[in-house]
Amino acid sequence: MKSLLLILIVSFTTLSCSQAQQKQFAFKKTDAEWKKMLTDEQYRVARKQGTERPYSNAYWDNHEKGTYVCVGCGQELFTSETKFESGTGWPSFYQPVNKKNVEVSDDNTLGMARDEVHCSRCGSHLGHVFNDGPKPTGLRYCMNSASMKFTKQ
Ligand code: FE
Repeated sequence: MKSLLLILIVSFTTLSCSQAQQKQFAFKKTDAEWKKMLTDEQYRVARKQGTERPYSNAYWDNHEKGTYVCVGCGQELFTSETKFESGTGWPSFYQPVNKKNVEVSDDNTLGMARDEVHCSRCGSHLGHVFNDGPKPTGLRYCMNSASMKFTKQ
């Protein structure tokens, strides 16, 4: 009985933690293919829900005009137009290029209730979204540089 309860708890936890990964995305690759096409850091962040270090990533202080696309599938995610200085050390935006291009799921890891953001086409983890952003949306998309590629305008 005790072990049955344990199995139930474990399966429930596993299910709720991997919601985003279990969904079928239009752009699919095997784990081996992801590993081959991404750097170790890109793979850790984008495919394993990792978080890169603040202030030592490619785009937190990037002020060039251009577009940020998904490192996994190339889908457009954000532009420099909606990038702002969040003071966090991560590239931050108040709005995606198109709401359909990013999806949000619950993330209750690390003892916090956060809204996880991933690419709607390939499921790559991008970062989190918070309600303390600037006008006009009041949102702060706190992204990982490792999950994006920047193209200068
Ligand atoms: Fe993608």
